[in-house]
Amino acid sequence: MTAANSTEAIHREGRTVTLTLHDLLTRGPGALKRRLHDAPRRARVAVARSGASQHCVACDRSFGHFLPFRRGSKTLSRFLVEAGYVTGDFDNHQCPYCWIGDRERHLLMYFDALDLWNRVTGSRVLHFAPEPELRRRLCALRPLRYVAADLLPYDSETVAMDVTAIPEPDGSFDLVICNHVLEHVPDVDRALSELLRVLRPGGIAVLQTPFAADRAETMEDPAISTDADCLTFYGQEDHVRLFGRDLFERIAAAGFEVRYAEHSDVLARFDAAREGVSLEEGLILATRPPADRS
Ligand SMILES: [Zn+2]
Repeated sequence: MTAANSTEAIHREGRTVTLTLHDLLTRGPGALKRRLHDAPRRARVAVARSGASQHCVACDRSFGHFLPFRRGSKTLSRFLVEAGYVTGDFDNHQCPYCWIGDRERHLLMYFDALDLWNRVTGSRVLHFAPEPELRRRLCALRPLRYVAADLLPYDSETVAMDVTAIPEPDGSFDLVICNHVLEHVPDVDRALSELLRVLRPGGIAVLQTPFAADRAETMEDPAISTDADCLTFYGQEDHVRLFGRDLFERIAAAGFEVRYAEHSDVLARFDAAREGVSLEEGLILATRPPADRS
């Protein structure tokens, strides 16, 4: 047996992990540590890939199950469940092949069903907190201008931008995508006002955000400030409120015409459980009224 193909079996967290001595000799102890650290996740991915009961619309592969977000739906507090919390699918979050998350998959499905892609070619697109696969598909459609923006950019292609102070002239964009951003923004009315301003009349904004379908009013309480409380009442440590059904009135009050496209209406031909998306999460589409009606 040569060094390159000899192996070492190590027991870790109840599993036997096979490590190649070649890795250790050629990449050093850091590689060995990483392999040990990653072993439980790699085992979960291998299990997720077996079977064919679920499907990813992004990479078109079938497999046994998606990887959960955190601890899956158990992550959600009883308070949020009883409030009718509408968000992504925590149990069926990440594709075990292409790693795309459920909320991005759902957006791709809505873009297909509503043919939002036809608004991209030759248009000006502003994409906040840009999802990688959606970004790739948008850019492939040759928009006239594409701006990826984030408060804290994680790559050099993304512009640092605060949604409450967008450094662009009025009417600069035909399409704005702001997916699961507003729940993080302290001055959400200012953000909505800015999003409306930078859209041209007739332009549309995708404004996905979690909300509580069984609560009429938004809950935003300064006393809710610790990570634990924000997780319990707002759904995540860095959320600053729990929108109620008044979310839609709030978007309208900013000057938009709002449409809530239900999954059961526009994506009825899909099995939400198989595709790993939330049946409850519709698409929030906000249109800046055309100039002759504003
Ligand atoms: Zn995939």
